[in-house]
Amino acid sequence: MTLAIFGNRVNTLGQGPLLPTMVLCQPDAAKSCGACCGLYNYADSSRPALVRRLRKRTKRFWETMAAGGRPEAFAERILREEDFSKRYEVIYCCEYLGFLDREEKRVGCLLHPAVHGGEDLRGISFYGRELCAGHLCPSHQHLTEKQKRILIRVLDDWYLYGLCLTDIDLVKTYFQLLSDRVGEEVRPERMEEEGLRATVQAFFSWKVSWPFRSEETGRLGKYFFDGSEYMIARIDYERLGRRTSPFHPLFLSFTSEFRSGEELDQGEAMIRANLDRFTRFYLEKKPLALERPCPY
Ligand code: SF4
Ligand code: SF4
Repeated sequence: MTLAIFGNRVNTLGQGPLLPTMVLCQPDAAKSCGACCGLYNYADSSRPALVRRLRKRTKRFWETMAAGGRPEAFAERILREEDFSKRYEVIYCCEYLGFLDREEKRVGCLLHPAVHGGEDLRGISFYGRELCAGHLCPSHQHLTEKQKRILIRVLDDWYLYGLCLTDIDLVKTYFQLLSDRVGEEVRPERMEEEGLRATVQAFFSWKVSWPFRSEETGRLGKYFFDGSEYMIARIDYERLGRRTSPFHPLFLSFTSEFRSGEELDQGEAMIRANLDRFTRFYLEKKPLALERPCPY
């Protein structure tokens, strides 16, 4: 199940003919992802808690290195000092994940060769150099190139970026709903238009600000951990007096917990309004060629 949530740590390079063309981990200077290094697996994986943790850790790491210390000594201290209570026990939270820039816009590996003048220190890590260097999570295979480009274009925040791009159900379901409405796969270049970009941003921001979000620690998106194994969360539509929602996968991705049928109705209305808004903006300026295909 770790595979489905954050991707597994299996070397995927060189396997199969279809290598992904765009690596999502460090797309630009504005954000990056650290999900498969255990970023969101701390019992308290709220943004403020992660910022505090990564900030302190990064500082300690560079102090240790500046003093001529070994990264292993840094790790021992971090493992001793930090609270490593986890959401899911079977997913490792790597102590070498920190911030890569002063502005704290990019999370990443403090042992990466890009950080040490080409020297790769990842051999001392839990997964080892080969797995760390070769791993690409399932989002690379399952998201289309257009979907990847849109995510990179609209999300400029490491916390939200990593959460959304690793939630394949969320991304694929949303873009499928949009495609069904606008009659084509959404074009990344249209994200230059403020109205469209803001609408997509608003949708993905619900990953952290959804008003019907469950606060259960063991829950992330559609998965929860009951102390012994992963389960897929349920929404009891019968109890709510409603039929299964057409937005069911989105509700699960937003970690929803509805207390009444009225709350469910509100959730549906919010999503529908977002889809309608996007469709309106998109079709307003749809290129003529799409509306009337050239017969020749
Ligand atoms: S994009 Fe995937 S492989 Fe890259 S850091 Fe995030 S979870 Fe890991
Ligand atoms: S060593 Fe680096 S790449 Fe490997 S899991 Fe830890 S932070 Fe991630």
